[in-house]
Amino acid sequence: MRWPVVRLLKGRARPFWHGCPVVFSGAVAAVDGPAGAGDWVEVRDDGDRPIGQGFYNPDSTYRVRILRLAREAAVPDEPEGCVAFRVAQATKLRRALDLPGAGTDCLRLVNSEGDRLSGVTVDVLRDVVVIQASARWAVSRRSAVEAAVLASLGHDVRVLHRAAAVLREEGLKAGDLKPGAGEPVGPLTVRENGLTYVVDPSQGQKTGFYADQRENRALVRTLARGRRVLDLFCYSGGFSLNAAAGGATEVLGVDSSAPAIALAQQNAVANAFEGVVRFQASDVSAVLGQDAAWDLVVCDPPKLAARRADLDAAFQRYLALNRAAVMATAPGGILVTCSCSAAVHRDPFLEMLREAAAQAGRRLSVTHVRGAAPDHPIDPAWPEGEYLKCVVASVE
Ligand code: SAH
Repeated sequence: MRWPVVRLLKGRARPFWHGCPVVFSGAVAAVDGPAGAGDWVEVRDDGDRPIGQGFYNPDSTYRVRILRLAREAAVPDEPEGCVAFRVAQATKLRRALDLPGAGTDCLRLVNSEGDRLSGVTVDVLRDVVVIQASARWAVSRRSAVEAAVLASLGHDVRVLHRAAAVLREEGLKAGDLKPGAGEPVGPLTVRENGLTYVVDPSQGQKTGFYADQRENRALVRTLARGRRVLDLFCYSGGFSLNAAAGGATEVLGVDSSAPAIALAQQNAVANAFEGVVRFQASDVSAVLGQDAAWDLVVCDPPKLAARRADLDAAFQRYLALNRAAVMATAPGGILVTCSCSAAVHRDPFLEMLREAAAQAGRRLSVTHVRGAAPDHPIDPAWPEGEYLKCVVASVE
C-alpha cells in the first residue's frame, strides 16, 4: 500500500466510479493506515478495487476530495504531480476558450471540482493571481498550488492567497491562513470585454471580481440600447457599465456596500460613463416598491440559500425579491434575474419566477436561461458545481 486507504461502504461506490469528486463522511466504512488532515489517500470500494486518489480530512464532512481516478493513467498519482497536472490542464482549457483574450484579462483559471481540483479556485486579475483555498489540503499545500500556477502561467505574476469562509467547516479558522509572502496587492485595473474595472483583490468580495457574470453582462450590453436600466445588487457596477456601453439612456446601480459603491463610481469614471450611470449605496428595498419605471432590471442578489435546509426560506426571499423586480419593470421591459445559490436548481428557480409574475399580475416570456461563463466549467459528476442561473425575460 503506497498510501492510506479509505474504504467505502458496500453499495456506495457507484457515484465515484462515475467521477464524483467528493466522498462524504457517511460513505466511508474504514480507513486503513495513519491518515491525517490533508494527507493523500487512495479510495477503494468494498471489494478493494482502487477508485482514485485524493486528499483526506477527518474534520470535514468532505472526507476525501478525489483529484484523480485510478483509470486516468496519464495523470500523476502522487499529490504534487497531480495538482500540477490539473492546473496545467485548466490553463490549457482557458487558452482554448481564448482567455485571456482581446479586451479581457480577468478570468477564473481553476474552478475547484469543475477542474478536478476540489478545494481551490484561482482567479487571474491581469498580472495578479488570487488563490483561494476552501479545503484544508489547499492550505497546507499552498506552496505546491502556487508552484503549479507559476509553472503554468510563467513567473511574471504576483500571487495573493485568500481563505474562503468555508474553511471553518474544514477544522480551520480563516485567520489560520497567513497572507502569502510578498507585497500586499493593492487595487489594480483589469479589463473585461473592453471595459475597465478597478478591483481590489486584497479587500474586495470573494477574489475581487465576479468573472462568472462576464457573458451575462455582455448580453445585457446587447439588450440595453435606448433603455432606462436598474441594476440591483450592482457590486462594482459590471452590469451597469455594460448597459451604458450598450446605449442605455440612464442607469442606476444599487448596492448596500459602501466600498462596493465607491468601486463602482471609480469604474463609471474610468469608462467615462458618469453622465449616464449613477450609483446609490442603499438596500435594494429603497428603490423597489415604486411604480414600474424601468425598461431593463438586473437582479443579481448574493446567495440567499446557503444550504439545502434553507431552501424554503430562500424560495420565499427569491419570490419576494423577484415579485418586486417584476413590478419595477415597465410593460415591454426586460428582467435579467440571477441566483448564485447552488441549492436552488434551475427548474425551481423558473417556478419561483412564474409565481412572482403571477403575484405581480404580470406575464413573462423567457428568452434566455444561462449559467456562468465557460471559465467556470462544471464536472457532470458534481452538478452541485452549477450554482449560477441567469434568466432573461420580457415582462408584459
Ligand atoms: N452584480 C454584481 C455582483 C453582485 S454580488 C457583478 O456583476 O459584479 C451581490 C451584491 O449584493 C454584493 O455586492 C452585496 O454588497 C450586495 N447586497 C447584499 N444584500 C443587499 C441588499 N439587501 N441591498 C443591496 N445590496 C445588497
